[in-house]
Amino acid sequence: PHQFIELLPFANHLLPLPSLQAVGSDGVRISMESALTARDRVGVQDFVLLENHTSEAAFIENLRKRFKENLIYTYIGSVLVSVNPYKDLEIYTKNHMERYRGVNFYEVSPHVYAVSDNSYRSMRTEHKDQCILISGESGAGKTEASKKILQYYAVTCPASDQVETVKDRLLQSNPVLEAFGNAKTLRNDNSSRFGKYMDIQFDFKGAPVGGHILNYLLEKSRVVHQNHGERNFHIFYQLIEGGEEDLLRRLGLERNPQQYQYLVKGNCPKVSSINDRSDWKVVRKALSVIGFSEDEVEELLNIIASVLHLGNIQYGGEDSGNAYITTDTQIKYLARLLGVDGLVLKEALTHKTIIAKGEELKSPLNLEQASSARDALSKAVYGRTFTWLVNKINVSLTYKNASVIGLLDIYGFEVFQHNSFEQFCINYCNEKLQQLFIELTLKSEQDEYEAEGITWEPVQYFNNKIICDLVEEKFKGIISILDEECLRPGDASDITFLEKLENTVGGHAHLTTHKLADGKTRKVMGREEFRLLHYAGEVNYNVNGFLDKNNDLLFRNLKEVMCMSDNKILTQCFDRAELKDSKRPETAATQFKTSLAKLMEILMSKEPSYVRCIKPNDAKQAGRFDDVLIRHQVKYLGLMENLRVRRAGFAYRRHYETFLQRYKSLCPETWPSWQGKLADGVSTLVKHLGYKPEEYKLGRSKIFIRFPKTLFATEDALET
Ligand code: ATP
Ligand code: MG
Repeated sequence: PHQFIELLPFANHLLPLPSLQAVGSDGVRISMESALTARDRVGVQDFVLLENHTSEAAFIENLRKRFKENLIYTYIGSVLVSVNPYKDLEIYTKNHMERYRGVNFYEVSPHVYAVSDNSYRSMRTEHKDQCILISGESGAGKTEASKKILQYYAVTCPASDQVETVKDRLLQSNPVLEAFGNAKTLRNDNSSRFGKYMDIQFDFKGAPVGGHILNYLLEKSRVVHQNHGERNFHIFYQLIEGGEEDLLRRLGLERNPQQYQYLVKGNCPKVSSINDRSDWKVVRKALSVIGFSEDEVEELLNIIASVLHLGNIQYGGEDSGNAYITTDTQIKYLARLLGVDGLVLKEALTHKTIIAKGEELKSPLNLEQASSARDALSKAVYGRTFTWLVNKINVSLTYKNASVIGLLDIYGFEVFQHNSFEQFCINYCNEKLQQLFIELTLKSEQDEYEAEGITWEPVQYFNNKIICDLVEEKFKGIISILDEECLRPGDASDITFLEKLENTVGGHAHLTTHKLADGKTRKVMGREEFRLLHYAGEVNYNVNGFLDKNNDLLFRNLKEVMCMSDNKILTQCFDRAELKDSKRPETAATQFKTSLAKLMEILMSKEPSYVRCIKPNDAKQAGRFDDVLIRHQVKYLGLMENLRVRRAGFAYRRHYETFLQRYKSLCPETWPSWQGKLADGVSTLVKHLGYKPEEYKLGRSKIFIRFPKTLFATEDALET
């Protein structure tokens, strides 16, 4: 009956426990014997209590023990570590939510609800905005965790009629964003291909009343190409599989994804864990709950269908000669769906115009240029529509003067066989988040020591600012160098960018190229690569495509056609002002850098909590704990470093009252109750227990214990 047995070595005074107790998953305390064997069996629920806290092996062993017992959550102090179970556990019921409501962190077993509740209460009582930062690699369970948190608030927070609508909209924003922003990849059947920061807004009564979403770097390239075994964004398949007959007829679509060039690249139209047809219904309903009118839905679907038609446009012509379009049906559909002139569109898909010296110059495109112009248009249309969608959701969630809990669900560190511009941006983002994490963790430790009047001993740690600077510094950071090459007319190419890197930052301790590497490392580096030594490890980036992706250009005449569209969504996405503006648009990397800087500001202004997600195996299977894979993640999530900082001074700290309540029976002078000052009581108690001066410190309101073994000895004394 007690599937998930948890030790409670730090019961709080609110739970007047006479001695060591354990709690089953259903919250029922269980007998002493099973509790004692449990400590060996299920490990410690907080890594600070590991005897050998510097041992990675001990860390992983503790994770494994718990994972085998379906205990997927463990703390490092207040940081929650979560291992994806790849199966439905009975730990997200309404009963579970109730159990975590208003309860102190350490009274109940670790859970994402405990983190949610803790943030909520801090927001309410300390009137400070909160944020919960969720990180981990693809498939580790970030999005699931963020959904659990949102559900927790939707169920447990006070409500009113108007609030119900907002709660629904908040919850329903997920299926919509997932339909348009998630896709099946090799790593995750429902992989988020964009970063997301969502504010949940609460009114003075603590009811959720609004929200706001910021999105980051959608992987637009997926619209036109997918690797083997991967799919395009879910929405395309949902529409084709689930769309009603007359809808498909109107959109000129066939009920077969294999008919569409943009959907066949991965050769993976169906996924066993996904039901596109029923998801379609969910998404349609969600769109109307959020407040999309029927007209807006129609225009949105016109765009989605247009992207598929664009993908099926084929060109004829010689390699060197001018390209012409051979598929007129597509143009016909596109003209109708987008409300543009077919001939103008056709012309724009085969020519480019540029403005030189105030004059418009038009030149024909060859086969390759024409296909890439077409793909650029598809990517731009899809990407901008996605942003429009996010804004539209934001409008429906608007609320002013609220307290806020922010949820960050953003891509984790990525190292593939082949790493490109996207990985460079993603890993840069993780570098920034790590910097924030270290800074804030150290700061909160330091603050607590100061508040308690205990001397802070500086902790040695690796400050990754040096790597952030290498990427983002003005003039000589990698992004600046890349932008410079993107702007330089003439012979600028991916390779000249690489050369410029060598010449400008070649001497940097965290950057190497093939040319600069010594004989040993050179072998494993390609000629077109540069290597960054990230805090999480080395990554080689292939410069191929860096300039194009950073430029993210769309020919002027294609923009013009989009501006002429009758589609109301597109006219909001493509602004005529953009055409008049002679300034070059910001590059992709610079835009990303700016939005990250804003994100850091937002996060800095809030009190953070952390959920660190770990993926147990690559097979998406329950019960499999792959050591190598997990060790890798423990490393790049910086968990050992995190534990080291947390354990640097004292492993365990507790309020005097809590401590005394729990252990008072061990000393005749404190039993059955202590009448004097709490601090004196604790002092008397620990002296009686024989604590040596170097083993503990007494602060203003808390006792700090340096080693877990001291605490365990005291715990064991309760038993005898
Ligand atoms: P990505 O970076 O690719 O978006 P992610 O970290 O957001 O990955 P999720 O989509 O949250 O990963 O999780 C992947 C899958 O793992 C889910 O679809 C679900 O099947 C399973 N999963 C994750 N967390 C849990 C959980 N707590 N309980 C049960 N299954 C889970
Ligand atoms: Mg995700």
